[in-house]
Amino acid sequence: MRLTFLITMCDLSLAELKNYPPSETRILMIESQRKWQALPFHRKKLVLGISAMRHFKLELERAGYEVDYRHEADFASGLWAHWRQYNPQRILAFQPREWGMQQILSKLAQDLPLALLPNPFYILPREEFIRWADSQKDLRMETFYRWMRRRENILIKNGQPVGGKWNFDKDNRKPPPDRAYPEPPFVEPDDITRTVIGIIEGQPGLWGSATDFRLPVTRSAALKWMEHFFRWRFADFGPYEDAMRQGDFILTHSLLSAFLNLGLLHPSELIERAIAAADEYAVPLNSLEGFIRQILGWREYIHGMYWYKMPEYRQVNYFQHQRGLPRWYWDPEECELACLRDSIEMVKQHGFAHHIHRLMVLSNFANLIGIHPLRLSEWFWAGFVDAYEWVELPNVLGMATYADGGLLASKPYISSGSYIHKMSNYCASCRFDVNQKYGENACPFNYLYWAFLEKQRDKLIHNPRMAVMYRMLDRKTAEERASIRRESERFIASLPEEDPRYHFEYDAG
Ligand SMILES: Cc1cc2nc3c(=O)[nH]c(=O)nc-3n(C[C@H](O)[C@H](O)[C@H](O)COP(=O)(O)OP(=O)(O)OC[C@H]3O[C@@H](n4cnc5c(N)ncnc54)[C@H](O)[C@@H]3O)c2cc1C
Ligand code: SF4
Repeated sequence: MRLTFLITMCDLSLAELKNYPPSETRILMIESQRKWQALPFHRKKLVLGISAMRHFKLELERAGYEVDYRHEADFASGLWAHWRQYNPQRILAFQPREWGMQQILSKLAQDLPLALLPNPFYILPREEFIRWADSQKDLRMETFYRWMRRRENILIKNGQPVGGKWNFDKDNRKPPPDRAYPEPPFVEPDDITRTVIGIIEGQPGLWGSATDFRLPVTRSAALKWMEHFFRWRFADFGPYEDAMRQGDFILTHSLLSAFLNLGLLHPSELIERAIAAADEYAVPLNSLEGFIRQILGWREYIHGMYWYKMPEYRQVNYFQHQRGLPRWYWDPEECELACLRDSIEMVKQHGFAHHIHRLMVLSNFANLIGIHPLRLSEWFWAGFVDAYEWVELPNVLGMATYADGGLLASKPYISSGSYIHKMSNYCASCRFDVNQKYGENACPFNYLYWAFLEKQRDKLIHNPRMAVMYRMLDRKTAEERASIRRESERFIASLPEEDPRYHFEYDAG
């Protein structure tokens, strides 16, 4: 057998190997210690990735493949060791999803017979996105999404969007519901997963615990998870997609990102199944369109923008923020802001919090207090089970913190406490008062928000979408503005320092 196919952690799909039959292909998989140690990763994230890889090895063997599965100090050593042992004529791999791995493989390709194939795990190949972006003046997600709907002929009738509208956002802003949803099909760990949990639990320098890990690690379990979402939460996905509920880390979301990003599920199959399930379970169009917008729109767009803008994208810092992350982000117990504490606790416990916690609490707060966007981005990358640089970086630097100066978002996603109050049940149990603007008991989001606008005036005043807020700010008296500034400075000075255990430089190896 002279052909080796290199499968990385995010390529876990048998279907994508259809052109490389077991009779002609040996599979190479590498667990790289250096990669696992690159950041203080959440233990559940590592267990998910490693256990999914080990299960996939078995699936490959059942399908007749010979698999060279290596435990190596780093990725390059693994590839060289394989080459020395088997001397393959050709080594193929899918284009890696991340810039760092692309650099490693490109370097190895100078000395080894290694070639990269187009990455099949997205609906739109990255080269086509780049062609689209080069042809556009307007790079907004909405323009891209409409183009994709037409291109893929999804929810389109006679050239127009089904339901007569592209977007049902107005129906999708309800506060959290009272009803409970059945628990998703968590999976009791088998021997393989238990072994991985044992290894990871014993590793120092990581975050959280994996002893209660119960996420799917195989395609069949991920498919059951997907069906469960469509059956029980899909109909409510749209109306409550912006809502947050204390202690509820999924609410009406799907948590399918973790399985999509490993390659266990493909975005096209999710869309196809969503359309069929909407019929089966009488799911309203605002939920169906809302879900398709996330997969066909946001996910494809974020992936494309990452490859369009890397590697310069890592350097953006529009507001010139320099602060490190307060240690609350790793140990939230002493944080008194109920919304922030609960959102961080979700991540610490589950390696997950849904989109609005990420956007309107975790990133909003970090942006308002002036955290360096890369420190925040590394925290997201380390802490979330679905996080990889290709997806967290544009979300953090572009969508959530406006660090790219408005390439992705038309205005910063910042808010005072009133938004969190409207969309969650946090404020009732908080030690701060969301209705107070200044003073010891005032909600910190309130004065931080106005102080941020004041401080960043030169960078935001010309944005038409910020005009109303600046008019409101300018109606405040000089005394009010001085109080806002004073409260904000006092609060920021009282924040706990960064935790030096969690300061690092990422290494893709
Ligand atoms: C600051 C920040 C960091 C983020 N980091 C990540 C990350 O590391 N990995 C990740 O997959 N998503 C990330 N997202 C996007 C989004 O929050 C998650 O995809 C979503 O919360 C995953 O939960 P879900 O599967 O329940 O999503 P659902 O709400 O059920 O949405 C369905 C699917 O749509 C896709 N999707 C939705 N929004 C986005 C988006 N903005 N970008 C890319 N895909 C999207 C996901 O694949 C998701 O599974 C981030 C968003 C923000 C604001
Ligand atoms: S009062 Fe402010 S800090 Fe407390 S939960 Fe509400 S928004 Fe968060």
